[in-house]
Amino acid sequence: MRPTEIRRVEGSHLEFSFKEAESRRVSLGDLRKSCACAVCRESKVPLNESMPFFPRATSLNKIEPVGNYAMAITWGDGHRSIYAFERLFEAAPEMSA
Ligand SMILES: [Zn+2]
Repeated sequence: MRPTEIRRVEGSHLEFSFKEAESRRVSLGDLRKSCACAVCRESKVPLNESMPFFPRATSLNKIEPVGNYAMAITWGDGHRSIYAFERLFEAAPEMSA
């Protein structure tokens, strides 16, 4: 399941279009919270809106393709997250705001 298009909507959300399925939308905050890298997984303190660095941590710096199975997001705080499209598709409905 690979998105045919990734759009930024309402400033704070990403919308993914799929050929085989309906579009999915996810907020940048939820996307950052669902980062599965070791640093984020092992963090004892979950990312929270009330944290002073939250706006930077959830601002979008760059989106790049990773092979043809994933995308990488570089966040405003310099953190880089990789999201496999397969996982993104499954996670997006629950994450959508
Ligand atoms: Zn991470």
